[in-house]
Parts: sequence; structure tokens; C-alpha cells
Amino acid sequence: MPYRLCMVNQHDAKSKVTIDKNFEDLHRPFDLLQAKAEASNCLYCYDAPCIKACPTAIDIPTFIHQIRSNNLLGSAKTILSSNIMAGTCARACPTEILCEQACVLNSSEQEPVKIGELQRYAVDHLIDLELTNNQAHPFQRQSLTGKKIAIIGAGPAGMSCAHKASMLGHDVTIYEAKSKAGGLNEFGLAAYKMVDDFAQREISFLLNLGGIEIKHGQTLGQNLSLDELQEEFEAVFIGVGLADSNELIYEGEINNKVTSAIDFIEQLRQAEDKSTVEVGSKVLVIGAGNTAIDAAIQSKRLGAQSVTLVYRRGEESMSATNWEVDLARQNCVNLLFWCAPKSMSEVDGKSSMVFQRTKVENNKLVTTGEEIKLETDRVLTAIGQKLDPTSLPAMDIKAGKITVSGNYQTSMEGVFAGGDCIASGEDLTVQAVEDGKQAAYAIDRYLLKSKQAEGEI
Ligand code: SF4
Repeated sequence: MPYRLCMVNQHDAKSKVTIDKNFEDLHRPFDLLQAKAEASNCLYCYDAPCIKACPTAIDIPTFIHQIRSNNLLGSAKTILSSNIMAGTCARACPTEILCEQACVLNSSEQEPVKIGELQRYAVDHLIDLELTNNQAHPFQRQSLTGKKIAIIGAGPAGMSCAHKASMLGHDVTIYEAKSKAGGLNEFGLAAYKMVDDFAQREISFLLNLGGIEIKHGQTLGQNLSLDELQEEFEAVFIGVGLADSNELIYEGEINNKVTSAIDFIEQLRQAEDKSTVEVGSKVLVIGAGNTAIDAAIQSKRLGAQSVTLVYRRGEESMSATNWEVDLARQNCVNLLFWCAPKSMSEVDGKSSMVFQRTKVENNKLVTTGEEIKLETDRVLTAIGQKLDPTSLPAMDIKAGKITVSGNYQTSMEGVFAGGDCIASGEDLTVQAVEDGKQAAYAIDRYLLKSKQAEGEI
């Protein structure tokens, strides 16, 4: 792609001013006029397909109609009733393969309604008002049940479960390993998608409901035991995500030039001054999902001279959406397909990685015998995440994920799970939010049954 088409501002690429500019909000939020104009495109369909395409089933035509009729707080409440983390989802959801893909306007060859941007407009309005003007919280807790629930992990699944369980009248304690809540929303999404500390503002808003306490520095299998939680609490929800990165296997010495893309993104998200984050000059990103794309684009925006994303299959097999892949191209990321890492070496202080060309033969991925060598001073790996099963020794785990029944119950009595760590978990924030919400309802039914069995009611 010619340099002049590159979206990245590379003028004085290492300066703080340039880098701050490169990490500004990816989408400028709508103003009132834009929001009302966009809302007027909606046909308010009966049996709207966009609702069915949303994992949290937000009532999309209703909230869009409320924006159009100047009921912005009502619109936000409609959204947040189904998805309490709808602010993050509006920024990070692949709407182009969910609600916006299902929009009926696509079939008349028009642009779909910009549902994600309208959602962000309404939710941001309510959260800003609630946090800055001390407005009453839009949700209230039901009468207290006296029951206590422990939640492990303060990511989207855990926070969503906590919010719904608290609304149902239960007291919730969340145990979180890191010093901040939010999970991938705080640590794992590209910085240009989550500007102005939005992940923490969303958490503050959610906690203002009451009934939820977070204890930080608590790691399952280290200073936190499931047995002890089961003794202290009536139910436990596990929403730990997939915290460990799969390791890249290659010949040659393992060195500190090869790091996980997730760790790199976390470092960048937590840096006060992004220009202090080291990225390297010739960056290779191994992987094909949205994390790989986030790492590649951010490397380029940090001032790397060249960034090449390498994938062992073709573009059609990438798990990143077409929109994300296009964004990578617009940010001058090179894409190299049908190449698998083989070895790494260093000669006279210069490192390089050798890749084997690949192809599909008899439905199997095989190497062709051809090799290519790429110079690099930083390799970021984004080849999937995994659960640490040693922290859950007594639990049924299949193919590296926790097995749950249809109501999110694990193989252990009174222990529920949801989000990326469960077998059916889709790798989407919005799915984790839905899992947490549905698990809270399942826990509520479980607690009601226990109460009946004990003759409390
Ligand atoms: S499918 Fe499109 S036009 Fe119909 S209600 Fe949903 S957003 Fe509006």
C-alpha cells in the first residue's frame, strides 16, 4: 500500500505527540444531530433480526426509537437492562458480523444502521451523567435475600454475573488476581478502542448499584481456594477467562525478543505515557485473530518501521473479522499467509526468523519445503489462550475448558462458570456478558431450590 494511504501518522514516529495522536479514539463519537439522523434510518422492524443476532438480545429497535424521540436515558436503560457492559461492547463488538450484519437494510443494498455507534452514544450519555452529576443509579436491587455469592474473576463474565446477582438481592464478593477490575476490557483490547479510561468508568458505574465488593490480588490455586469459598458462600461463579498464552514452538534459542501479544497489549494499556513502551523496529506478529490484529496495528502506531502479520493458512481462514483485517491494511501492516514459524537465530546481533511455506494437501496443512527468512527484533505471538487446569483440580475439564451444563453448573455442586473458560464459550466480550447474566439467573434458581429444600420458604 502506498505510504500516503497509511492511516498511521509516522511523522516523527517516536515523539509523544505523534504517538498520543496515533492512539486517539478510533471512532469519533456521534453528536446529537448525527445520532438522530442515524436513528431515523431504522425501520423499527417487527421481529427484528438485529435483536436475534445480538448475544445479549438488546431490544435494538426500541432503544433506537427512544434516541429518535429524545428519550436518551430511557434508551440507555433499555440497552443496559440486557447488557450492563454495553459501553465496552459498543466499542469492541464485531457488529459487522452480529447485529449490523443482520440489519434488513443490507438486503436493500443500503448501509446497515450504525447500531454500535448509536448504542455508544446513549450509554455514554447515561454513564457520564451518573458518574459526574451523582444522578440516581438507573437500576435498583430487589429486597435482600441474605445469600452470599463468590465470583472468581472481575472480567466481563464476572462483572456481569455480579451485577445481575446483586440486582436479584444477593451479596457478592469478587476475587480478582489483578490490581484492577475489567479483565480484557481493561488489559486486552487495543488502546485506541478504549480511550479515556472507559473500562474503569464502566466498572465504577456498575459498582454504584451496591452489594458488590472486589478483593484484588486473589489468585485461584495460589492464595485462593475453591474449597474455602464453597464453605463460606452459598454459590460460586468462575469467570477466570483464559489467562495463559499458548507458547510458540520453534527451533533455536528462546529469547526475550519473543513475547506474547496479550502481555504487550497489557503493557501498552497500562502505560501512562505510551511513547515509553519499547516495540522494536521490525516486528513480526504470529497469529490470525483480533488480538494479533490489535498487536500489529498498535506496534505500527508506536513507530515500528515494519510490521508483518504471519499466518500459516490463507486470509479466508483468519478468525479476525474482515473489518479488522482491512484496518490492519490501512495501518500499513503487511500480511503474509501460508507461512509457519520454523526457527530463530541471531548473527552479529541481528535476529531473524525462518518460516516454512505451507499448503493444504488432502485436507491437511503441510509444508512445501520452501523457506523464507525475515529479519526481526520483536516477535509477538497471538496463537490462542488457555486455562491453567492445575488451579481447578477437582473439576471436569474437556479440551482445556470447564464443562458446564445448560444452566452453567459445573461438575461441582453449587459452582457455576461462564465466559471464555467454559466449553461453549465464544471468544467475544458480549458472549461473556451474556454468560455472566444467565449464570446469575441460574444461581438465583439454585439458591431458591436450596431454600425450599431447607424449609426456609
Ligand atoms: S434490522 Fe435494522 S432496520 Fe430493522 S430494527 Fe434492526 S437496526 Fe432497525
